[in-house]
Amino acid sequence: MKFETKLVHSHKEDKETGAVVPAIYETTTYSQEKAGKTKGYDYTRTDNPTRKIFEDFIAKIENGKHALVYSSGMAAINNIFISLLKTGDNIISCNDIYGGTYRSFENEWRKFGIDISYVDTSELKNVRKAINDKTRLIFIETPTNPLLKLTDLERLVKIAKSKNLVSVVDNTFASPYNQKPLVFGVDIVVESTTKYINGHSTVIGGALAVSKDDLYEKLKYHQNAFGAVQDPIASWLNLMFGKTLALRMKKINRNAFHIAQYLENNSLAEKVYYPGLKSHPQHELAKRQMSGYSGIVSFELKKTVDLNNFLKKLKYFTTAESLGGIESLIEVPALMTHASIPKKTREKNGISDYLIRVSVGIEHASDLIKDLSRALKE
Ligand SMILES: *Cc1c(COP(=O)(O)O)cnc(C)c1O
Repeated sequence: MKFETKLVHSHKEDKETGAVVPAIYETTTYSQEKAGKTKGYDYTRTDNPTRKIFEDFIAKIENGKHALVYSSGMAAINNIFISLLKTGDNIISCNDIYGGTYRSFENEWRKFGIDISYVDTSELKNVRKAINDKTRLIFIETPTNPLLKLTDLERLVKIAKSKNLVSVVDNTFASPYNQKPLVFGVDIVVESTTKYINGHSTVIGGALAVSKDDLYEKLKYHQNAFGAVQDPIASWLNLMFGKTLALRMKKINRNAFHIAQYLENNSLAEKVYYPGLKSHPQHELAKRQMSGYSGIVSFELKKTVDLNNFLKKLKYFTTAESLGGIESLIEVPALMTHASIPKKTREKNGISDYLIRVSVGIEHASDLIKDLSRALKE
């Protein structure tokens, strides 16, 4: 089954009623024939039929065997550490990780004696060097936020396997339409379904997908024990929105490419970051491990442009955090998504005060380009 078909046919119509769209089982508990004899469900934190349909959907579109869904992307990420780490362990992560994940590492997990080493994982020799005898897990994003740096998944998996480490990839920026880390042998793939899978900026949610049964059992146990599950209505909404992922991503990939090209040829954008451009230093790797380059374009605005005036003049790009919706959004990482990182560290990592990040939507590309062009001129 091809990806587009999986999105639509991940579940069958309801056997009893013929309903084409699955029911929302908004129930917390289930009757038992006799004490202890259930029909497979006893309490919704543990299992719910609507959530299960959404979990099977995620497993299929990630080319995995199992998936678990959570109340947010952060809940999914933290569930990995609760499930797999203990005091004294070390994790290796990339140095431009999502701000919420960074906060969780620094303010929560360090408190419990877990050590985190941040390296530039786009150079795998840095990963090899950082591994010590306490290292248990490698957690990366590819492409990263906001500089769209890539990590070679095939080589990362080789290193992780040779050292018996669990490999985790946060795939939120690519979405499963453009990249399937499990195919490269990655152990756990993370999605903030809030972004491209929901795609309409309506529901917060997170997902994990895996291929191995034992790993699934551990994560599943802690999904229930920790309790940050996606509720039935949110699961149903994400399933419904998720079914059009391929249509949206196809358009988003194309729009983002046009915008990246337009910016590259505009002298008011000093530098453009987009893995689909030939000028991206890892374009060859992007071609190997991604089937499309997704909808995030970052660029360095010339300092002669009045930043706030530029943002205010835009009609179709709303100044807002988040990404992955059908509407185009624009943000200034240094002042918004990455403001919690000290200025010095930010600049060392290449995030200047004039760096702009765009999440491209499904509007007509020519309207978006005209909008940018007008706002840059005025
Ligand atoms: C948004 C995001 C998260 C967190 O997801 P929430 O659903 O907001 O909790 C994690 N990783 C990346 C890359 C994200 O963009």
